Amino acid sequence: MSKNIQSIRGMHDFAPEEAAAMRVLESRLLSVLKQYAYQEIRTPIVEKLELFKRSIGEVTDIVEKEMYAFEDGADHAWLGLRPEGTASTVRAGIQNGWLHNQQQRYWYLGPFFRRERPQKGRYRQFHQLGVETFGMQGPDIDVELILLTRSMWQAVGLPAENLQLQLNSLGDADARAKHRDKLIAYLSDHESVLDEDARKRLHANPLRVLDSKNHEVQAIVADAPKLLDFLDQEAKDHFGLMQQLLDQMGIEYSVNPTLVRGLDYYNRTVFEWVSTDLGAQGTICAGGRYDSLVEQMGGKATCAAGFAIGLERLLSLVEQQMMDSVPQIDAYFVALGDEASRYAFQLIAKIRQQLPDCAIQMNCGDGSIKAQMKRADRSGARLALIVGEDEVNNQQIAVKHLQEKQPQQVLSENELLQLLKPQH
Ligand code: ATP
Ligand code: MG
Repeated sequence: MSKNIQSIRGMHDFAPEEAAAMRVLESRLLSVLKQYAYQEIRTPIVEKLELFKRSIGEVTDIVEKEMYAFEDGADHAWLGLRPEGTASTVRAGIQNGWLHNQQQRYWYLGPFFRRERPQKGRYRQFHQLGVETFGMQGPDIDVELILLTRSMWQAVGLPAENLQLQLNSLGDADARAKHRDKLIAYLSDHESVLDEDARKRLHANPLRVLDSKNHEVQAIVADAPKLLDFLDQEAKDHFGLMQQLLDQMGIEYSVNPTLVRGLDYYNRTVFEWVSTDLGAQGTICAGGRYDSLVEQMGGKATCAAGFAIGLERLLSLVEQQMMDSVPQIDAYFVALGDEASRYAFQLIAKIRQQLPDCAIQMNCGDGSIKAQMKRADRSGARLALIVGEDEVNNQQIAVKHLQEKQPQQVLSENELLQLLKPQH
């Protein structure tokens, strides 16, 4: 007996209703990106493994534990499925000469892969909408990114009171180095309470210990030396001006001194939008500046800032509203007999030409009127358009309203077009 093959754990199918809800969500987010005049870029899903190691950092969850990597048969190169989008964007920007001496505002949307323990809001294939900007140094672009995300929450009907904006500044290299020594000393004093991960990171990348999800480690971290106390004047001014701009725009936020990012390349501003409705997997959007990454990856020094939204998490907050906005089928065409079918095909072609946004499903595979009306009901269509021998002879269509209590009508072709028109 053969066993059915199942999908990979943590990698999901989207049923048509879910896919339709995700489409609505995506199209609302994309219309906001259009308003802010951001441009789409597309990069490959597979890249050289080295790209992720160098940009994300060796001592990170992603590179240490979560990469899907494989040796490519042809030339034995190590490749990886992309776990996030910044590395590829920077690689593409440098390779294609998009960055040097230019300002860019890019977005991308697609699947990403991390071998994590699957749980609610945490999958092995998930989808991100990411934004990356280049060549803008001041805090105004940081604020623009926050305004952009806030517009997105409004566009998908996410109530502001269920979201928290958290900010921090990670400063620049000098501040990080000074803070690092103090942090290592502090964490070493509490080494017995640290878990294995934290202990491993203690010397390799102590800032990452601040990002621990372990409650006991978090308790220690709460009193650790704060990067904010080490910022130089420039980084302080940047952070201060950013907060001023946010205040002016009436955007509420809280400064969270333990907020760091899971990835190595961030500096200065980091931010997260956290939902109060999602429990442990509450971060729906995370971002910040990464001014040294382009140079570190071999390009000319170019400042940068971006964010990524976890689309599954966002969808789970607004799924019902999105489903309610999925466009319905306008009409289901019931045709009784061969001649009626031929007539139906021609008429539908005419309607599709004249009303390109009208969604009509044609009955295929014959069936009695009862069977066809059942399919019409199941399709969720607003109208059933019914044609039999009489209707063909008179060039008329019987119209039954499936969603509302309205009497059945018999219409001419033009009257039918008028009836279908108002919606489109
Ligand atoms: P977390 O702290 O939840 O592990 P992260 O710091 O690893 O998140 P980022 O790399 O900043 O996440 O990715 C940006 C966003 O993408 C996250 O805020 C989240 O909404 C989403 N995301 C990240 N990993 C996953 C995943 N495995 N499944 C679903 N969504 C994810
Ligand atoms: Mg993670």
